[in-house]
Amino acid sequence: MKYKLKKNDVDQCEDGYMVFLPYGFRWNDDIVHVRGFDTMAEVRAAAKTDVVECGCLECIKHLIVRRRTF
Ligand SMILES: [Zn+2]
Repeated sequence: MKYKLKKNDVDQCEDGYMVFLPYGFRWNDDIVHVRGFDTMAEVRAAAKTDVVECGCLECIKHLIVRRRTF
């Protein structure tokens, strides 16, 4: 499963952009799902190279719930 950047995952804030990864994905440098960026170009580059699949407890919980309801 490969992550594709979606508009809904990006929030613009005063200092730049925050990217909230959907459940099942995380940033590769730490077990975190949110990361801040200065520019949209950085967001796009990182979304391609720095996102990995996540199996943390929170993601698993949400993915199981989703599977049950659909
Ligand atoms: Zn996770």
